[in-house]
Amino acid sequence: MEMQNTVKSASRISGIALHSGARSTLRILPAPANTGIVFRRVDMPGAPEVKAVAQNVVDVRRATTIASRDTGAFVVTVEHIMAALHASKVDNAIVEMDNVEPPIADGSAGPFFDMIQDSGLEEQDAEAQYWTASAPIVFEDGNSTLALLPADDFKITMTVEFGVTKLDTQFLSCVVNTESFANELSRARTFCAYQDLKQLLAAGLTKGGSLDNAVVLHDGAIICKDALRYPNELVRHKIMDMVGDLFLVGKRVKAHIVSVKSGHPSHVRLAQAMLAQSAGK
Ligand SMILES: [Zn+2]
Repeated sequence: MEMQNTVKSASRISGIALHSGARSTLRILPAPANTGIVFRRVDMPGAPEVKAVAQNVVDVRRATTIASRDTGAFVVTVEHIMAALHASKVDNAIVEMDNVEPPIADGSAGPFFDMIQDSGLEEQDAEAQYWTASAPIVFEDGNSTLALLPADDFKITMTVEFGVTKLDTQFLSCVVNTESFANELSRARTFCAYQDLKQLLAAGLTKGGSLDNAVVLHDGAIICKDALRYPNELVRHKIMDMVGDLFLVGKRVKAHIVSVKSGHPSHVRLAQAMLAQSAGK
């Protein structure tokens, strides 16, 4: 029988938050069995908490934002930390933050994944829970198409196309486990189109963005600080985002997801459809 895990010890990371540009410190702390992943805002009176589940998602425009209707706590850009926890098989943890947004670090899930691996896992006295499909789930959402098929492992097959450069049509099919996440997905950085930057800045977003933490698509080219970490870094990042967003079902996922041009809105819609399927609706 496979058991639930939490982190063996507390770990922390500090840095600039992508959207607010403010300095932020995040700690990952152990939590009892059957807690799930719970974010805690230690900068707010009473340190309110919000559970990382699809029912608590309140915004999906550029990143995945969750909020608790009971405590008023909200947390933006949870997907990279959620991806690192999901791939590491951490079922239970408190993610403590002194800001509304975690540090963006280098724009990838790598620094969060490394924190978890360095602290190690503590096996707990409760059986691990997997979300498995009883039937396929297929839908279109704007330009996105998503198909979820029953499977014995967690696999994501994805095509992306952003229409900015010829280089941004990318494809990858990847079985997701701790090892493949470490080697294939965790280092892929966030990215955005140069033409979107102006709008984002005007909306008061991406104040902390720079070539230290993002890849920029512009005028037929991909601009980044060092070389691309993978020739198809963009699709790897989007797969990593999906690993995080789907952990909002509150269980490890076993399914094969085929995605064409999906993003946070369709990922969260899929997570909600998965929860509806397991609730028998
Ligand atoms: Zn991302």
